Amino acid sequence: AKQKGRNSICVYAPPAKAELPISTVSLENALHRAWQQQDFSLHYQPKLCLQSRRILGFEALMRWQPQELGPVSPAVFIPVLEDTGLIIPVGYWLIEQACRDLQRLSEHGFEQSIAINISARQLTQDDFAEQLLTRLHQAGIPPQRLSLELTESSLMQEPERAKRLLSQLREAHISIALDDFGTGYSSLSYLKRLPVDMLKIDCSFITDIVQEQDDRGIVDAIIRMAHGLSMTVVAEGVETAPQVELLQAFDCDQIQGYWFARPMPVDALIAWLSEAEGAGVYRRTDS
Ligand code: C2E
Ligand code: MG
Ligand code: MG
Ligand code: MG
Repeated sequence: AKQKGRNSICVYAPPAKAELPISTVSLENALHRAWQQQDFSLHYQPKLCLQSRRILGFEALMRWQPQELGPVSPAVFIPVLEDTGLIIPVGYWLIEQACRDLQRLSEHGFEQSIAINISARQLTQDDFAEQLLTRLHQAGIPPQRLSLELTESSLMQEPERAKRLLSQLREAHISIALDDFGTGYSSLSYLKRLPVDMLKIDCSFITDIVQEQDDRGIVDAIIRMAHGLSMTVVAEGVETAPQVELLQAFDCDQIQGYWFARPMPVDALIAWLSEAEGAGVYRRTDS
């Protein structure tokens, strides 16, 4: 199961669209229909603080399970949503859905934050920050409860525009995470100038961290650098106890991964949190 999870989800290079028994055009059509019929949903994966063992927040991950095809990976359909421009309306729906789910979480006493993945195309919208803040305001959600995950490569497409947007968001108290860190090409001097609060180390560096000395070196260096820049570090794709021990030894702040929780619908998340000791404190003693 571990092997399968790694290959199917820690997508370092997104699988070719050709892997689906469907042409690009039919995939585009299917996604247009999915949007009209509101067929997308969000799953949430918790992030755990290694020191306090508390759940600090959740990452929203889009899901699409068309009847004809079965579940399609976001690594496959997100690029098509980007190419068709559908990512713009879908992206705003997603923010609204996350706001509704934040309200539901609050009703159950869970006040953690949700992180949303934002793609390059969305950043090119001049009024993106304004649209986002309007939706938060309408839903009565404090901006502190939302954060955005952006990849290095999406920021590098238009670095100056990206920097302006991030500054605007920071002023509005929306925190920013650099996603899939280590897989892009952003220079350290650019990184230093960005108002980023968190680095998420890509799962490709975590997978073999126990066996591969090189990966350990890279992860150790990223964590030190991030702390030097006063950023919080999250390790993605953590699946085993030995990985957790190493990350703890390297002073990694938070982890995300199958080791303690998979992405799940909001109802399952609420049930999972309610079971976790003391409203959100997570302890795992096995393996
Ligand atoms: P990401 O933002 O880096 O999300 C982390 C991915 O790692 C998710 O894959 C998650 O299910 C997977 N994962 C979590 N824990 C583990 C683990 O322990 N082992 C392994 N092997 N994988 C783990 P998912 O949900 O398939 O999403 C893939 C990518 O698609 C995301 O990578 C993100 O870049 C993109 N994506 C997903 N939802 C959205 C969205 O709403 N908007 C945008 N723009 N992109 C999205
Ligand atoms: Mg992400
Ligand atoms: Mg990531
Ligand atoms: Mg990733």
